Amino acid sequence: MLTLGHAGITFGVALTAHSLSTRSRNTERSDQTPGMRIRGQVHSLSQRIDLRVLFLGALLPDIIDKPLGLLVLPDVYGTGRLFGHSLLFVLAIGLAGAWLYRARKRNWLLVLTYGAAMHLLLDSMWRAPSVLFWPFVGSLPQGGTPEVWLSRMLATPAQNPSALISEAVGFVLLMPLIWSILRGSGLRQFLRYGEVE
Ligand SMILES: [Zn+2]
Repeated sequence: MLTLGHAGITFGVALTAHSLSTRSRNTERSDQTPGMRIRGQVHSLSQRIDLRVLFLGALLPDIIDKPLGLLVLPDVYGTGRLFGHSLLFVLAIGLAGAWLYRARKRNWLLVLTYGAAMHLLLDSMWRAPSVLFWPFVGSLPQGGTPEVWLSRMLATPAQNPSALISEAVGFVLLMPLIWSILRGSGLRQFLRYGEVE
């Protein structure tokens, strides 16, 4: 899956879960339009978690593995799915996140973990057990070349329309956030403070 799919679906699932979990507590005012209600939910979610960290987590496995496997060690791996796409990586940051939350009541590392776990799910990593269960099942794939990887990525939309569909779905799911940012305090405020009015 590509960037918009990862970011949008991870955000959409978080917003849906948040809306469902707060529904019983919220008394919806009848004079609110659906748009106002969605903006209210996005604002309320942004108060509970840092959405910038959520997006970082949603892309984190690729941010780690793609430069490592394709730029730093292209002759060894030549692939963009390595340690960052393993369960061990997600478990490690999850445990650190649980400790940080218990000790300091900070949830950002748990949010990062959620994003990274969603990334593995959306990449269907169960199809690559040697990566998902690294280092317990076989070894990481080696011997690929960045050129082959790149040509496969570029060919993806034509050969695999589902990649385009997931990008479109991701974009649609990001619309409530984009709309809230543009109608509210703006992109700069969001990027600097993570706030969505
Ligand atoms: Zn990935």
